[in-house]
Amino acid sequence: MKIELINTGSELLLGRVLNTHQQWICRQLADRGYQVTRQCCISDDGKAIETAMQEALTRSDLIITTGGLGPTSDDITRELVAKLLGKKLTLDEAVLANMQKYFRDRKRLMPASSKVQAMVPEGAVVLPNNHGTAPGLAIPAKANTWVVMLPGPPRELRPMFLESVVPLLEKQFPLAHPFVCRTLKTTGLGESFVEEKIAVPLQALVGQGLEIGYCARIGEVDVRLVGHGSDGGKIVAAAEDIVRGLIGPLIFGLNDDSLEVALVRLLTEKKKTLALAESCTGGFIAHRITNVPGASEVLMSGMVTYSNHAKMDLLGVRESSLKEHGAVSEVVAKEMAEGARRRAKTDYAIAVTGIAGPGGGSEAKPVGTAYVGLSGSEGTQAQRLFNPFDRETFKFVTSQQALDWLRRTILTGQIE
Ligand code: ATP
Ligand code: MG
Repeated sequence: MKIELINTGSELLLGRVLNTHQQWICRQLADRGYQVTRQCCISDDGKAIETAMQEALTRSDLIITTGGLGPTSDDITRELVAKLLGKKLTLDEAVLANMQKYFRDRKRLMPASSKVQAMVPEGAVVLPNNHGTAPGLAIPAKANTWVVMLPGPPRELRPMFLESVVPLLEKQFPLAHPFVCRTLKTTGLGESFVEEKIAVPLQALVGQGLEIGYCARIGEVDVRLVGHGSDGGKIVAAAEDIVRGLIGPLIFGLNDDSLEVALVRLLTEKKKTLALAESCTGGFIAHRITNVPGASEVLMSGMVTYSNHAKMDLLGVRESSLKEHGAVSEVVAKEMAEGARRRAKTDYAIAVTGIAGPGGGSEAKPVGTAYVGLSGSEGTQAQRLFNPFDRETFKFVTSQQALDWLRRTILTGQIE
């Protein structure tokens, strides 16, 4: 099955609006076993829309357009597509009544220009818009070919897609087999190394219909396992077993999990509490953890101790340690973690101290050097890291390593 996505909007090509529909729709479809085969972005120009649509009709089974259903002069998708498909537009009284109600409910006057949004091409299925005025439209273009037109605003498009387009898709283009996909989220190893470890052992399953995908992002690698054919579920389960056997400790979650979500879940399950003492990450670890609902059950305190004074005053780091070893050192990272844990009376504490750069590095401790301290009832340890990136990436990668160290510690009961 070929699916083509046409995003219209001059603002997208001018770089004024990020084309989030492209990512969102592709992701929604992929999660259900449908893959977009081609995507293009065009301006609100009539000729451009016409050409893109004509080309798409020669090669695709489902064509989805976004944008241009509004009431202004640059919103021309509806008319153009109807004309191209040879479908007459008529005023749909039910759609009009809905729109009038939408304005009445909001105690607003309906502009005369809005009426155009109630024009529906003959044979089209109206996709109700519960968050705006312009309904979406699904038109059977020719045998087994559909054109679906969706409005531009994401808050209108997304619910409409989930409520109306997904059921239409599943009805008109049912999959031969249920779609099985599992994404294993890993951290701690680069994508080539992950592939090196698992690709050969999975080879036999690939022959039976397993598809493996790798997606590397900063500090993480996703391993995507897709099962094709009637045995898809069994194949994916067997593949997951193999991958877990080979790189189990690196896997922190599934599908949309983030490391902080996995960690908060783990701390909650084990009824463990956490304190943070951050220097170079500036509260970023606390930020990540507090983004997770339920974080208050496990995170007791997070201190940003940027200066030496704060490290001594708030965490009890010894002046002599700072003088002898410097703020970015194993000794200070350990004392920070111990101090945070002692003061917050938690099961664990993580501390981070490092040199984010661009200035402040030395030969012994170049920019990107960081120490993570981890303290728990198992003892206190520190690790030296080297993350020579821009400041934002430095913060993310350092936080990732710190969070993952704690995750592995909780799982093994040992600070390694
Ligand atoms: P409206 O009735 O608001 O005019 P419309 O269906 O005509 O809706 P557009 O005019 O193309 O849609 O876009 C409306 C707004 O929706 C844009 O200003 C933009 O903020 C957002 N938008 C449109 N297309 C996209 C896209 N591909 N990704 C993200 N946002 C988008
Ligand atoms: Mg518009």
